[in-house]
Amino acid sequence: MQLPAADPAIVSRRAAIVGALREIVPDGVIAEDTALRAYESDGLSALRQMPLVVVLPRTTEQVARILSYCRRDGVKIVPRGAGTSLSGGSTPLGDAVTLAMGRFNRILEVDLDNRCAVVQPGVTNLAISRAVESDGFYYAPDPSSQIACSIGGNVAENAGGVHCLKYGLTANNLLGLEMVLMTGEVIRLGGRHLDAPGYDLMGVVTGSEGLLGVITEVTVRLLRRPETARAVLMGFEDPGQAAACVAAIIAAGIIPAGLEMMDGPAIRAAEDFVHAGYPTEAGALLICELDGPAVEVDALIARVESLARANGATTLRTSTTEAERLLFWAGRKAAFPAAGRISPDYLCMDGTIPRRRLPEVLARMQDLSRLHGLRVANVFHAGDGNLHPLILFDANRPGELERAEAFGADILRLCVEVGGVLTGEHGVGLEKRDLMPVMFGEEDIRQQQRIKCAFDPDHLLNPGKVYPTLHRCAELGRLHVSGGHLPFPDLPRF
Ligand SMILES: Cc1cc2nc3c(=O)[nH]c(=O)nc-3n(C[C@H](O)[C@H](O)[C@H](O)COP(=O)(O)OP(=O)(O)OC[C@H]3O[C@@H](n4cnc5c(N)ncnc54)[C@H](O)[C@@H]3O)c2cc1C
Repeated sequence: MQLPAADPAIVSRRAAIVGALREIVPDGVIAEDTALRAYESDGLSALRQMPLVVVLPRTTEQVARILSYCRRDGVKIVPRGAGTSLSGGSTPLGDAVTLAMGRFNRILEVDLDNRCAVVQPGVTNLAISRAVESDGFYYAPDPSSQIACSIGGNVAENAGGVHCLKYGLTANNLLGLEMVLMTGEVIRLGGRHLDAPGYDLMGVVTGSEGLLGVITEVTVRLLRRPETARAVLMGFEDPGQAAACVAAIIAAGIIPAGLEMMDGPAIRAAEDFVHAGYPTEAGALLICELDGPAVEVDALIARVESLARANGATTLRTSTTEAERLLFWAGRKAAFPAAGRISPDYLCMDGTIPRRRLPEVLARMQDLSRLHGLRVANVFHAGDGNLHPLILFDANRPGELERAEAFGADILRLCVEVGGVLTGEHGVGLEKRDLMPVMFGEEDIRQQQRIKCAFDPDHLLNPGKVYPTLHRCAELGRLHVSGGHLPFPDLPRF
């Protein structure tokens, strides 16, 4: 992983850029070294560098003025929510303005008649559910980082979470967006209705990792809280049995609210940390949550328990109280910080595979672990095949970070090889950028880049992220001379 090199021509204009931003947001420009330090990285903390400057607008109009200024003067921009990206999506660039959306932190409207909420992008994911819980509603996608991550960042990464197996990812829980384009124009996509004519541009923007525009308002779908939720905790001797049990639950037509797996190292680290009562001798643990009307949940739990027994579960416990259900989840939710207790550093990978390849992929990951000489702990969304291997290493030992990165890249190649994809929910960012050609052919990538060009022809938004090399838009246009007609003949060719 490498940070894109800073353009000295932009860095030399820093004072003028800071001055222009101060004119637009007089009380929201950070240019002093000590204060900038807080923005030097995101959740991918192995990569860090100081941003050129940080600006914290409060209004859509200020965002529009910042973007039009940057476009006019050729200044790059890195949009930033809460900075929890694990793929380096909001990693700052030394020659770019970090546009931090933390002051867009208001819930603008709760509209229960239409089962939606209109919020600013800096509102945290959890704050939305908290705002409507007394009315019996919630916002379903629940990334483990939900206490900190912003809804704007969730949209830009198409974030997922434990409950997405049943209720869908961010994309499935989004109704509308307001977004500012690089031209300074403000567009609205979707709304409170269920569908809209024309291209599904909201689908294009969701998961676009800050490359197409800056989101300034989000309308999310609210769901009624289920009457009951109970969890089943299942321990197995080996991950293959647990994987077979996952397949059996899904094949039985049961759609759990969550179906998560942890392997032996992850179980023991989490148990030492939160004392959730996990079986520390087990080689794999499943937590399966069922929700809905009590009578339905009871029936589903009986079926899940019987499938667990049939697949060799050595531990089988079902929550009888809400406190017990939360305790089952406490270890899973604390698994990432718990990994910090067994290793000074770790890389959290994110790839997705077809569920039926789980046993094979987990076994081959152990081979890779031996090959690279590094331990790996697995905590993941087993129900939707979304793996989160935690590669344990010590950055103070020369060469270990590079070995961890190479191990991570091999895991992602393996995911693609078995018919999966490079990311399930954390995005591509800087972390997986150079692996995009493993997944996509040149034509696929060019077509994606043409969409980028339509929104941001000068490549000023989040440059260096997602695409290994971004062809200049005019070069892409040159490829499509048809019938002697050159598209965009007024554009300079390189
Ligand atoms: C401990 C931990 C656990 C995590 N667990 C999960 C999990 O379970 N599921 C999951 O999906 N993710 C998880 N993540 C990753 C991360 O929290 C998500 O990717 C989240 O969506 C990022 O939100 P953010 O506000 O921090 O965005 P940032 O990190 O600030 O930015 C992420 C991307 O969004 C863009 N962006 C941010 N705001 C805007 C905006 N307003 N307009 C346009 N672009 C914008 C940025 O340019 C960047 O590309 C976890 C992270 C941590 C640290």
